[in-house]
Formats: sequence, C-alpha cells, structure tokens
Amino acid sequence: MTSRLKLPVIAPLTDGFARRISYLRISLTDRCNYRCTYCMPEEGMVFRPRADLLTFEEIERLLTIFAGLGVRRVRLTGGEPTVRADILELVSRLAAIDKIERVVMTSNGHRFPELAGPLARAGLAEVNISLDTLDAERFRKLTRRGDLTRVIEGIDAALAAGLTVKLNAVALKGENDHEIATLCQFAWNRGITPRFIEHMPMSDGQLYSVQQQLSASEIRGVVASHFGCELVPDSDGDTTLGPSRYWRLDGPASGAKPGRRLGIISAMSEHFCDTCNRLRLSAVGELHTCLAYDDATSLRDILRAGGSDDDVRRSIVDAVAGKREGHQFQLTGDGAPMKHMIAIGG
Ligand code: SAM
Ligand code: SF4
Repeated sequence: MTSRLKLPVIAPLTDGFARRISYLRISLTDRCNYRCTYCMPEEGMVFRPRADLLTFEEIERLLTIFAGLGVRRVRLTGGEPTVRADILELVSRLAAIDKIERVVMTSNGHRFPELAGPLARAGLAEVNISLDTLDAERFRKLTRRGDLTRVIEGIDAALAAGLTVKLNAVALKGENDHEIATLCQFAWNRGITPRFIEHMPMSDGQLYSVQQQLSASEIRGVVASHFGCELVPDSDGDTTLGPSRYWRLDGPASGAKPGRRLGIISAMSEHFCDTCNRLRLSAVGELHTCLAYDDATSLRDILRAGGSDDDVRRSIVDAVAGKREGHQFQLTGDGAPMKHMIAIGG
C-alpha cells in the first residue's frame, strides 16, 4: 500500500486521509436462519443476549445523528436482518429520517417471498441477495440449512416488488468456481447484476484457506473465457458508491447485449481502501471504522449512560479521525480479525 500524508480532520466525517464518509452499514442482529460455512463456525457460536442489541429507538437516534454528519445511505445487514422482529416498522422509521436518501439491505433472501412487497412499501429501495450456487445440494451444504428454491422465489419477489436487486456470491475455489458463468447468466436473465466477493479471512482465519481464494483477475478470466469476450471496466469512474468494481462484457461474442455486467468486490487482491466511504455499526452498537480490525467504539454505551447527541457526535468524529489507511488482511489468515463475519455483517 502506498503511504499517504495523514491530514487533520477537516470536516465532520472526513477521515485523516480525506475520505468522506457517507455510507453506514447497520447490523440488526448477529443471529441468522442460515449457517454459512465461510461466515460462522459450526459449533461454539455465542450470540449476544437480546438486551445487548440496539433498540429501534437507539438505531433511529443514532442514524439521525449520522445523517446530520453526512451519511446519506444506510445498508441493513446482520446476521440476517429479516429475522429481526418488526423489521417492517424499523425500515419505515429509518426511511423517514431526514437526509437519509436510500435504505437498502443485504439478505440471504429466505424471507423475501413473503417480505419483499411489504419491505418495498415500508421504504426499502434495494436488496443485495446472497446466492453462491444454483445447485440445491451445494447450497444446502454451504449454508448448512438453506433452501435454494425459497431464495430464488425471494429474488423474483424482490424484482416483482420493484426493488433494485443485485446478487452476491462469495467466490470459492473447489466450491462454486465452475458456476461463475452460470450465476452470471442466471442474474442477467433477470436483468440483475451479479457480484462476486473475494473470500475474506475473518474468524481469526479459521474459516479461511488460501487454497480456496479466487482472485478478482481469476474471476474475470473465468467469465471472459466462458463468454469469449473481453471484460472492460464499467464503473463510470464512480468508486464512491460501494466497494464493487464493475466490468462489462465487450467484443463480438458478447452480442452487444446490454446489461452483461458484473461486479467484483476484490477486498483481497485489488483492495479499494483508498476510496472507502463507509462505517459499520454492529448489532450491539459498536462503531467499526474498518471490517478488518476488531477495535470499536461503543455508541450504545454512550446512549445508555445518558450521553447527549453531542457526546455521540464527538465519539463518531473521533472514531472517524482514527480510521486506518487500509486493511491488513493477510492471505495466510495471520493477523486476521477474530470476529466472525456474521457478527458484523460484511
Ligand atoms: N445474511 C445476509 C446475507 O447473507 O446476505 C447479510 C449478512 S452476510 C454476513 C453479508 C455478506 O457477507 C454476504 O453476502 C456473505 O456472503 C458475505 N460473507 C460472509 N462471510 C464472508 C467471508 N468470509 N468473506 C467474504 N464475504 C463473506
Ligand atoms: Fe447468515 Fe448471511 Fe452469514 Fe450466511 S452469510 S450465515 S446467511 S449472515
């Protein structure tokens, strides 16, 4: 990583490297109806007691403060956000907050057959649904309990409800690497953009193996060779909306079909720390300025100690001032964060 001059904090929610923070991911729960192998261990997972979770009032108050500091987009995640009771009420409360332009969600899609319409009516604008494989048996194995048919129904229900939908697949050698083209085609047939996520070594590296790592260039190679095309960058130069870099199929074999586009979240091999615009709030109210480190500031403790909005604001600005220049995920897993992905929400 190139070293850049650390600047003083010049405005609220601009960090010491001049990155403007406008995006907040809020984990609503560390619980989930699935048990994905790369996200949580099979045994020994300790879930936080419900009393530790932020209440709706606390989430609403914190998001209002973040909005005042420049956050415009919020992503609800988990665990699985749709297992949080009264999720519809929460979405409508958050969507009504002044200056919050877009409330979006990342979900495994399992509850979307029933919830897609009500969520859209409550103010949800967009959902990223995780789908790593189209093979029902492999899906069951990867999620340890998932139901592929329901998730596909959930994707179709989200589209029918008018939500913007993207698909997320963690790319894993020896698991779903041979399905990358099929997943692209599945998404494109529905007018959806597929996105592939490089496997990240959370959980102290215990759920990660470097042999399974499929890099962004390998993913591009698989797609280009399958479809007989070139992949050309298609992010419109806009790297502020999220970590995904977009690529478009180009060349005669692409048939000039519009929408043949994919995203790659290349946190490991082509990291995007220079343009990181995000913060993460865990289900228990801890503010993480980077996914790759375990240290955090408890905003919930400030609220529950009777702190004022100004106290919270100061803590947020201080935390942002200390946001590190970049992650240090090690490809071997050494130095990886101890926390499980399920506890922070991706
Ligand atoms: N339950 C929801 C879901 O599955 O979409 C939201 C939470 S999940 C933690 C958010 C995203 O993180 C999912 O797309 C999941 O595939 C991804 N993820 C989980 N563990 C990961 C890992 N070790 N490396 C990369 N992505 C991971
Ligand atoms: Fe649950 Fe999502 Fe983690 Fe799978 S990736 S265990 S669905 S939180």
